[in-house]
Amino acid sequence: MKYYNANTIIYLDGRFEKAADSSTDLYGQSLHYGYAAFEGIRAYKTHNGNRIFKAAAHFDRLEHSCKLANIPFPWDKQELIRETYKLLTLNKLKDAYIRPLVFCHPNMKLNQPVGVSIFICAWDWDAYSGNKLLNLTISDYERPNPKSTPMEAKLSGNYVNSILATTAANIKGYDEALLLDMNGFVAEASGANIFIEKDGKLYTPSLGNILPGITRATVKELCTVLDIECIEKKLTVDELKNADSAFLCGTATEVAGIASIDEVVYRTMWRESIGYTIQRAYKNLVLEKVNYEVII
Ligand code: PMP
Repeated sequence: MKYYNANTIIYLDGRFEKAADSSTDLYGQSLHYGYAAFEGIRAYKTHNGNRIFKAAAHFDRLEHSCKLANIPFPWDKQELIRETYKLLTLNKLKDAYIRPLVFCHPNMKLNQPVGVSIFICAWDWDAYSGNKLLNLTISDYERPNPKSTPMEAKLSGNYVNSILATTAANIKGYDEALLLDMNGFVAEASGANIFIEKDGKLYTPSLGNILPGITRATVKELCTVLDIECIEKKLTVDELKNADSAFLCGTATEVAGIASIDEVVYRTMWRESIGYTIQRAYKNLVLEKVNYEVII
């Protein structure tokens, strides 16, 4: 996949410049040690214009990730949101994926950053499809213990674990890896949170050992609106495998139904599951169709 071309503009520390002309120092802690924080954000072409979904929540989490990792965050978040909208306009992007990254300046020591930069780029992202059901495998890799790295922070270094798990799952022929936490409870997929359905209720792992997904929070909000009971608890592998249906959710994944986990194939048809209802409600929400229906 090509992320930029000769005309692509990026945002770097208050300036807009051509991606092809931009560069970074090779002697930084981010490149060497994965000491950086980032976000993954979606923009949608809606009938109200170009919309960045939950922009404030994403920039809040970016700041929080930095705080948890002792990385300074000397920027105004409202300003960053305005600059991100400008970035989309400059690149003529509508349905897009946006990637802000806070990275540290040259310093090969294992101590506090000597300075930080913020880089924001965006690329075209196909409109929602959501039709494909996923085949998952429980990974031999487990999510890192939050006592070793803050798992509630979206830190670059944490994603080595995700890459290892996804690669191993793909080699075995699965779409995605599902990781357990250090106590053997269900945690999350390599880049998405999980919900299961059992007897008309939804369940999702409680916070602590997982990334607090913004989509996960949105699903919970949708459950309140739709009067669906949603329970956060420690989920066992048995509960996962005895569920009626299940789905992953995340900014990039949106809401994606799970067909199977290892040898277990979910019996409830996706189109009859609560996940399918949530999937459609999520689509309406990001495309602002809910308001549209109210307005007309
Ligand atoms: N868990 C992990 C490990 C992730 O990388 C992501 C994607 N950011 C998620 C969960 C879902 O988070 P969000 O809904 O905020 O995209």
